[in-house]
Amino acid sequence: MITLQGKGVSKGVERGRLYFFQRAGAAVEKKSVADIEKEKERVAKAQQKSVEQLEILAEKCREDAGDDAALLFETHAMFVEDEDYVDRMMEMMEKEQCNAEYAVFCAGEEMSAVMEASGDAYISERAADIRDVTRRLLNNLMGIEEGGMDVEEPVILAADDLAPSETLQMDKSKILGFITQKGSDNSHTAILARTMGIPAICAVGDKLTACYAGTEAFMDGETGEIILDADRETAERMEQKRRKQKEDRELLQALKGQEDVTLDGRHVKLYCNIGSPDDIDMVLANDGQGIGLFRSEFLYLASDHYPSEEEQFQAYKAVASAMGGKRVIIRTLDIGADKKVDYFQLEEEENPAMGLRAIRICLEREEIFRTQLRALYRASAYGKVAIMFPMITSVWEVEECRKLCDEVMAELLAEGIPFQKDTELGIMIETPAAVWMAEELAKLVDFFSVGTNDLTQYMLACDRQANHLERFFDAHHPAVLRALKMTADAAHKAGIWMGICGELAADLSLLPTFLAMGVDELSVSPALVLPLRAAIRSCRAETFSVTP
Ligand code: PEP
Ligand code: MG
Repeated sequence: MITLQGKGVSKGVERGRLYFFQRAGAAVEKKSVADIEKEKERVAKAQQKSVEQLEILAEKCREDAGDDAALLFETHAMFVEDEDYVDRMMEMMEKEQCNAEYAVFCAGEEMSAVMEASGDAYISERAADIRDVTRRLLNNLMGIEEGGMDVEEPVILAADDLAPSETLQMDKSKILGFITQKGSDNSHTAILARTMGIPAICAVGDKLTACYAGTEAFMDGETGEIILDADRETAERMEQKRRKQKEDRELLQALKGQEDVTLDGRHVKLYCNIGSPDDIDMVLANDGQGIGLFRSEFLYLASDHYPSEEEQFQAYKAVASAMGGKRVIIRTLDIGADKKVDYFQLEEEENPAMGLRAIRICLEREEIFRTQLRALYRASAYGKVAIMFPMITSVWEVEECRKLCDEVMAELLAEGIPFQKDTELGIMIETPAAVWMAEELAKLVDFFSVGTNDLTQYMLACDRQANHLERFFDAHHPAVLRALKMTADAAHKAGIWMGICGELAADLSLLPTFLAMGVDELSVSPALVLPLRAAIRSCRAETFSVTP
């Protein structure tokens, strides 16, 4: 029996076989091959398929985000057939009598290394494109679909780290839990695991190696314990905990349909955070009273092209309709920092968390923003949609957002497309500037929702992703709590409501404090709704105080 220790970031005990996630193209083996002509044909077929895929992507991109955005895929299509690149593969197969995969992989590595060493900034940046093209060719050669998992039974998925886009592209029905060597509590992969109600453990370190692939394991997403080849006594202890969790969940079912009200009569809006229309089943199963945060950027992360207006409209409409008349707050695109997508072609930045992200991208690249706003307003005809803007720091940003909303509404009106004219507009309060400007900002919007993940990061100047800073990333810090109080006061002074949609909203130890501050709404992962309802119904709003 072997025990590994990590940090539990999404609760739950699971038992299953360990499966190691391989990034497509990362594990290419060299094999001797007799029939080289056959290998060459395989390369030709993979090239043809890649070019076809890239042409479709370029076309979609052109429709949704203009010619410049389409250029990336057009360039990739040219790279696929680049003479030097292809010659290198062919030479390698002939000389080494090796398989196509190995030749493609080596040609890609060699070409990108030459480009990186060129000394020319433009050429060396293209090295990443060659790697991307090589990955696509390899996927097509090996019949790999990005994010696809070749398993029959659900498994515990282990990886060095997982980007949110990778997590999103996986088939959830095959995943019992996530275990990663790196990562942190506030990373979007951990947040995603909680949203999906899947147990997760991060920061296990390099003791988690692929040599354990296939081993039977228990994982406990609360304690961060991973047990491989458990002995009988340990297996019984873990099974017991698993059974207890199931029983607790069943007991909480009695709270479905009950009001979210404290013992002293304070009502709270208890909403859910979601990342895709697929999460709605969890919201309904847990009796969420609305959607407090739909992270719309996850639609972009799960895609390899700009989601079109129609694709987005269908997703937003599905959520709005499924929630009936209940409020559905959809946050506009919050790409950037750890949420990256290649097709945005964003420049590398020294400090991406403080760079071109979220509303800044939307205001700089209006076409993308307009497409999303049109989809959102169209969806507003099918339910109670509210639109929320992330990472606001200044009054002028909100004014610009409002202006674009007005323009989009005027367009839809002229086109005879139905929409809800008085769709609520809100902003996320997740920068210190927004806290300090809250009184002015409150006059421009219908609600505030505090993003405590980013607010903590920016208030304390502490990277939310960095596991080694955990001691310093203190979301209970008096500065953060005072910021929440200031935000609530500013909102109420202007007659609007204020909620919390960051991970802190689910922190039961702070619930009385939030209520005493006058927080009107808490938005949490669907699986946390019923435990939070139980806490609300057994608590009284205390007097607010902050002890440094
Ligand atoms: C936050 O910052 O608290 C938030 C809810 O948004 P995200 O975690 O997606 O940045
Ligand atoms: Mg945020």
